Amino acid sequence: MKEIKNPKTLQREMERLRRSGRTLGFVPTMGALHEGHLSLVRRARRENDVVVVSLFVNPLQFGPKEDFSRYPRSLGEDRRALRQEKVDYLFRPLAPSFYLSGHQTFVEARELSRGLCGRFRPGHFRGVATVVTKLFNLVMPHRAYFGAKDYQQARIVQALVRDLNFNLEIKVLPTLRDRDGLALSSRNRYLSSRERKRALAIPRALAWARDEVRKGQRSLPSLKQGILRRLRASKVRIDYVEFVEPDDLTPVRGLKAPFLIAVAGWVGKTRLIDNAIMWP
Ligand code: AMP
Repeated sequence: MKEIKNPKTLQREMERLRRSGRTLGFVPTMGALHEGHLSLVRRARRENDVVVVSLFVNPLQFGPKEDFSRYPRSLGEDRRALRQEKVDYLFRPLAPSFYLSGHQTFVEARELSRGLCGRFRPGHFRGVATVVTKLFNLVMPHRAYFGAKDYQQARIVQALVRDLNFNLEIKVLPTLRDRDGLALSSRNRYLSSRERKRALAIPRALAWARDEVRKGQRSLPSLKQGILRRLRASKVRIDYVEFVEPDDLTPVRGLKAPFLIAVAGWVGKTRLIDNAIMWP
C-alpha cells in the first residue's frame, strides 16, 4: 500500500493510472476504521483495478463545539486493516496542504442539507460536500463508495455528482451492525459499556417500528410515539425522529409508499445516528 500525503502527488499518480486504462475505486473515510468502512473497501476491491482510501478528519465538517479534536484516531490499526484488504493507495493529507490558506470556495446541496442532521449541525453538510468535491477532483475515481448509515450524506453526495457533472458512479452500501444491532460507528468508541447498552434503544426502536409496519400499522403518530417512548426509556436525548421520503428527504404525510425513519440522539456526550427504510 502506497501512502501519499501531498494532494498534487496523488492527483498525478491517479491521472497516470486512469490513462493506463485502470479503473479506480475510492472510499473516503475519517479513519478509526471498523467493519462498516471495510465493507466498502471490500466492495471497491472486487469492482475495481485500483483501490484508493482517504483518511482525513475534515475540520470543515465539525462545528466549533463538536468533537473534532477528540475524534478517535487509530492510524496504526487503520493501516494494518487496509493493507490486509489489499488497498493500493492511502491518501492522508494534512489539513494545511488540503485547505490552502485563503480557501474560499464551498459546495452546498441546498434543500437536502436543510433537514435532519443539517438542522442540528449547521455547516456540516457544506463541509462534507466541499471535502468530497475536492477528493473527487484529486482521485478522479470511476466509482466511489458510501454507507447508508449516513443516509443524508449519501443523498447529498449523489446530488452533487449529478448537479456538478462528476463522471463517476456512487455506490451506497447497507449499514453494517454489531451483533446486538448497534450500527457500527467510529464514535461508538466513546461509549462506556453502560452507555452502549442504552444506545441499543436506537436500533431496537427502529426494529420495533419495522415490525409494526409489517403487522399493518399505518399511523405515523403511533409509530413516532412508540419510537420516542423507547428512546426516552433509555435516556437517549433525542435530536430528531423523522419520517421522510427516501429520495428528497422531505417529510412524508402518509405511510403508503416506502419511507425512511431517521433518528439522531445523544447518549451521554456521544451523538449517534441511525435509519431504516420501511416498506409498507
Ligand atoms: P466516516 O469515517 O464516519 O466518515 O465514514 C466513512 C464512510 O463509511 C461513509 O461513507 C460512511 O457512511 C461509511 N460508514 C460508516 N459507518 C458505516 C456502517 N456501520 N456501515 C456501512 N458504512 C458505514
